[in-house]
Amino acid sequence: MHNLLEKVYQTNSLTKVEIIYLLENITPEDREILYSHALKTKQKYYGNKVFLRGLIEFSNICRQDCLYCGIRASNAKVERYRLTPGEILGCCDIGYDLGYRTFVLQSGEDLWYTAEILGALIQEIKKRYPEVAITLSIGERRVETYQSLFASGADRFLMRHETASKDLYEKLHPTMHFEDRQACLSTLKDIGYQVGAGFMVGLPGQTFADLAEDLRYLSEISPDMIGIGPFIPHSETPLGTEKGGTLEDTLVMVALARLLIPGSLIPATTALGTLNPQGRELALKAGANVLMPIITPTSVRKQYALYENKICGDDKPEDCRYCIERRIQAAGFEMDLGRGDSWQFSS
Ligand code: SAH
Repeated sequence: MHNLLEKVYQTNSLTKVEIIYLLENITPEDREILYSHALKTKQKYYGNKVFLRGLIEFSNICRQDCLYCGIRASNAKVERYRLTPGEILGCCDIGYDLGYRTFVLQSGEDLWYTAEILGALIQEIKKRYPEVAITLSIGERRVETYQSLFASGADRFLMRHETASKDLYEKLHPTMHFEDRQACLSTLKDIGYQVGAGFMVGLPGQTFADLAEDLRYLSEISPDMIGIGPFIPHSETPLGTEKGGTLEDTLVMVALARLLIPGSLIPATTALGTLNPQGRELALKAGANVLMPIITPTSVRKQYALYENKICGDDKPEDCRYCIERRIQAAGFEMDLGRGDSWQFSS
């Protein structure tokens, strides 16, 4: 095991067989070594900085029916909302005043927001705040839409691949296709977006071989951003009584992602913070370097429940801003309020 831990630290590569062996045999002591290798690798590329992104969850209306997700189309118990472009701009104003220079616009797959509506919104945000980066996380759209949104000024696009194993993907996504998702990611990259992929840990039926495939796929596409979080069951979904992912497994995957794609931006996810009060801090110490404080209006926050017991539901944007700053400092890192482009994009 020690050979493998040294190999991944020195060479930033492992074969799939080696990853599976590592996941099957890792001990608590090995994990600490892995986390410290990942932390040192993060520091080599990004120093002690942690970048912030203001997250605006602008609609929980979704045409897809992902088995794990609380806002899936079939969940009739969700009270649905849609922020108007004016309301979204209001969130950006608040976020800008709090110092954020990246806004992440995330939603269910809600086609009410056409290419025209989103394009005009992006242009207005860029007109008000030319120095900010805009990240979209709106799911699958036509190539032409991705192109026109990029032309309007969107900089980055988050689309987790969710799982790189076809069988598992198709079981979890009855309304979607494995090949489409990965095709979207490569189209987005070709258009010129900084692209974020990623996956959930602890999905029902997910094996170590599946997780190794996730890392192999990430190494292949070398994304600018990598979102990794534990699966957390939501009672109003078909997976409501399943077990969720664990803190340890998720941290191991974060650390391996840092070591295998060393220049990537990796958030300490809200889902990890939901699983454990120190989850995000532990992720920062295992190689993560981004936090995404929520700036969604408090009035609708609780309705954007991808999973249950999501943290910060009653908080206001300024509460999240200062809570996050304190957490970064307490964990021994420095907050960076710049745009925070990825290492491979900036170099
Ligand atoms: N509709 C957009 C945004 C998805 S929501 C898109 O398709 O990309 C953001 C992420 O939340 C998803 O990619 C998924 O990985 C995660 N997520 C959804 N339900 C979850 C759950 N029950 N537990 C943990 N993470 C979940």
